[in-house]
Order: sequence, then structure tokens, then C-alpha cells
Amino acid sequence: MGTLTVIRKVVVLGSTGSIGVSTLGLFEAAGVEVEILALTAGRNVERLIEQSLRWRPAVAVIEDERCLEALRAGLKDTGVRAAAGTSAVIEAAAMGADWVMSAIVGAAGLAPTLAAARTGAVIALANKESLVCAGPALLRIAREAGGAVIPVDSEHSAIFQVLQPACAQRVSRLILTASGGPFRTWTREQMALATPEQAVAHPNWSMGAKISVDSASMMNKGLEMIEASYLFDTPEERIEAVIHPQSVIHSLVEYADGSTLAQLGPPDMRSPIACAFAWPDRLPWPAPRLDLAAYGQLTFEQPDLERFPSLGIAREAMRLGGGAPAAMNAANEVAVAAFLDRQIGFLDIAGSVAGTLERMNSLGALMEADTDPVESAMTTDASARRIAAEVVRQVHRHN
Ligand code: NAD
Ligand code: MG
Repeated sequence: MGTLTVIRKVVVLGSTGSIGVSTLGLFEAAGVEVEILALTAGRNVERLIEQSLRWRPAVAVIEDERCLEALRAGLKDTGVRAAAGTSAVIEAAAMGADWVMSAIVGAAGLAPTLAAARTGAVIALANKESLVCAGPALLRIAREAGGAVIPVDSEHSAIFQVLQPACAQRVSRLILTASGGPFRTWTREQMALATPEQAVAHPNWSMGAKISVDSASMMNKGLEMIEASYLFDTPEERIEAVIHPQSVIHSLVEYADGSTLAQLGPPDMRSPIACAFAWPDRLPWPAPRLDLAAYGQLTFEQPDLERFPSLGIAREAMRLGGGAPAAMNAANEVAVAAFLDRQIGFLDIAGSVAGTLERMNSLGALMEADTDPVESAMTTDASARRIAAEVVRQVHRHN
């Protein structure tokens, strides 16, 4: 198979989550040699200890400081240093790894991802929210530091793989595929009564709770359209989404001559992670193979904007530009948390996001306030969270 030029020093941010576990699982399955500098987690101290015993990172970081004692106890006499807190996560990101997996969920991933970008590391970016918040700044910082951002989100990995740099100017459309999520065939009335359990039961992918709810509302596709526009420098009107329930075609690029290129594979996040790990090489590993005949047929549908208003909200945020994507993302995080906490109904998620954006727009709070784009994104994120919390409280009282 030839030898792979293995990138040796690795940090996994969000190692205990769905993507983090898949990343370590891929290393295991592929038998790659890596030196893990740091593993970081939010609160899942048991899994972080377990992973640290197996992978022996220099440091294991738990964001929630209340878990430090338990982490210390679990790592006693192992030679793995235990640390806690937001700043320790950021320090871990900046330890000087060659390759950093950015797999924290939400805008909480922005500061660590930026810290990693400043070191010039190759960043395997799963944390789409950091791009939505501050995409252009993040990409510029990575480029200026001599690093790179390689998308892990399966749709963007697909586009990244089929987009030919020599004719990037000749792209006419980026077409993101979407599974349609668990409510693809539900009526609005049924969706209004959907429970968190039903929303997180994704038909094709097993993922963290937040992105699963986003897939059910299709806000995930909205976030991904914004992600694509930044990653591939493509305007909103050239980005489309099509429902493809089998999740075999991961996305497509259409060129000016009418030729369309697609990337296919079984729905398994280890494939885009492998791509981001080895790029521009290919990682030989016992990957699940695509059996097209077993699928029989691949089908496609137009997304329904009435039942999935998040798609329209995300387009509007892209058109508004400035702080609108960051505000939309923050409002969505607040609304999804409230839904998972059974404070609001499923359809109230999109309603709360739209309500927050309207309020912020009327306050003139969607302009980029600061001259520093990262500061500006963080300011917008904080005010959107405040306003969204109010909006969610009102919806909750009203229900
Ligand atoms: P997850 O909830 O399973 O895992 C999140 C990880 O981040 C965990 O390790 C958690 O402990 C950690 N974390 C949570 N809050 C934190 C905080 N405040 N500070 C530090 N660490 C924190 O989520 P996931 O499904 O693995 O998704 C991670 C990211 O990857 C998300 O941005 C998601 O949109 C993106 N993504 C996931 C998938 C997938 O298949 N799971 C696919 C594409 C993109
Ligand atoms: Mg995706």
C-alpha cells in the first residue's frame, strides 16, 4: 500500500464526543502511529480517563473545573497531567501539534480552534459553529500562520475532495446533500409535538445531541451552507441543498460546462476524518466499502421550506452578512438547549432563532461592531445569547 507520511503530533479537542471517539477509533483501526499531546473534554471525565489510559496524552483537559479532582484521581501515577478550565483547553490547542482535530460542539470551540490556527497546525475542522461565527477570520489566521483548515463535515469534505483548485473560478453551484433527518416525512402538526428523543434519533448518523437536533430542524444544513460559503468562497446564491435520504452522495460540485462531480461513501465519519488526516495522501485502512447494488436506488427531493424554515433563516443570515451568522448560531444553540430541556417545542426552535435575529436587526446589533472580527463575533455571540434566552423564556411562558 506504500507508506503514509504520518503526521505525528496530535491534539483532539472534544475527544469524548461522537467525532472525537471516531477520530481515536480511526487511529486504532488504521494502526497509525500518533503522539497525542492532548485530549480535551467538556464534562465527560470517565471517558476522558479511559481514553487517556489508552492513548497516554501529555495532558488531559476537562473544561468543567468541578471535574478536576476526579480527573486527577483517575490519572494518578499514569504520567498523564490533568488540567481543567477554558484556558487549559485553549493552551492544549496551542501545544504545537501538527494536526488538531477541532471537535468541540458549539461556539465554545471557537477560541481553542483559533488558538490552534495561530500555531500553524493543520486543523481538521468538525466544529462548524466556529466557522459560522468567525469563518473569514479563522481561515485567514490559519493561512497566515502557514497552516490549513481541512473540513471534516462530510458535505464539505466531499466538496473539498472534488473541487479542483485549477478551475475553482469555474464552479457554478455547490450542492449540499441532506438526509432530511428523522422528520423528513412528518407534518408540521406532528413536528410541533416532537420530543427530544424523537429529534435525536437520526436515521443514518449517530451524532451528538445538538447536531442531531440541528439535523432534525435542518438548521444543520443552514449552518453548512454558511460553512460552505466561507470555506469555498462562494456566494449564497450558488449554494443549494437537496434531500438525499440514503446519505451516500456526500455533496456535489457543478462546473460551468455542466459537468457535476460528486463524492460518495457509506455514512461513516471516519472517512472524512481519514481524508483530513492524510490529505493530500490517502490513508489506507479497512474502511467500510460502498455497496451500491445493496442500496438499489439513490433518491432526491427538494427541501420543504415551510416545514423546515431554518433553511430560509440561514439564507437570510448569509445575505445580511456582518454578525448575522454568528447571531443565528448563538440563538440556535440557546433554543436547541431549551428544546432538549423540554422548555420549548420543536418548532419553537426556528421561531426563537428568527425572533432573536429580528430583534437584533432592529437594534442594529447585527453590524460588525468591533474592528477585530473575532472580538466582534464574540460580542455578537454574547448579545444574541442574552436576547435568545429572553425570547425562549417568553415562548416557554406562552406555551
Ligand atoms: P458531541 O456532543 O458528541 O461531542 C462534543 C465534544 O465537545 C465532547 O467531547 C464534549 O465533552 C466537548 N465539549 C462540550 N462542550 C464543551 C465546552 N464548553 N468546552 C470544551 N469542550 C466541550 O458532538 P459531536 O457530534 O462529536 O460534534 C462535534 C462537532 O462536530 C460539532 O460542531 C458538530 O456540528 C460537528 N460535526 C459532527 C458530526 C457527527 O457526525 N457527530 C458530523 C459533522 C460535524
Ligand atoms: Mg454535515
